[in-house]
Amino acid sequence: MTQVEVWNADETLLHRVSVRHAVQMIWRGVATPVEVHATERIGPYRVPVVVRLVRYVEQKWLYSRTRATYSREGVLLRDRHRCAYCGRFTATTMDHVLPRSRGGATAWANAVAACEPCNLRKGDRTPDEARMPLRWEPYVPTRVQLHFARTTSPHVTHLTDSGKEPAR
Ligand SMILES: [Zn+2]
Repeated sequence: MTQVEVWNADETLLHRVSVRHAVQMIWRGVATPVEVHATERIGPYRVPVVVRLVRYVEQKWLYSRTRATYSREGVLLRDRHRCAYCGRFTATTMDHVLPRSRGGATAWANAVAACEPCNLRKGDRTPDEARMPLRWEPYVPTRVQLHFARTTSPHVTHLTDSGKEPAR
């Protein structure tokens, strides 16, 4: 999939994201389109080629490799409320991949977002025992990754009109 350039507020290139991610940033009001595709559309938006952040982001902080402090909310954010077992965006709970009762650690690498039914179904078993394979491997996110997850989370509904084209 083509990548969209993300510019800082001072128009320096920060990084590249997917079209979907860029549109979510526009929809959230954290970025505005600078350059758009002539014909392709995604929902009400022209497909962006370049977007610019509304607020200036300190690059030093952006590129820091600082690991995020572990938290239950952080796990849900990292996984964007997507259940690691069924893949639906309905996760409200956190599951220890290797259950705590079996010596599993309370840490990023042993924690995934899970919906309540999957969490209940899995219970005190490992994914293998429960025959519920993980859809991705949990990882330790950086603070920056969590920051971007927060600004594009579909669960944070803060609708603005910025970047949206007027209705015809
Ligand atoms: Zn689930």
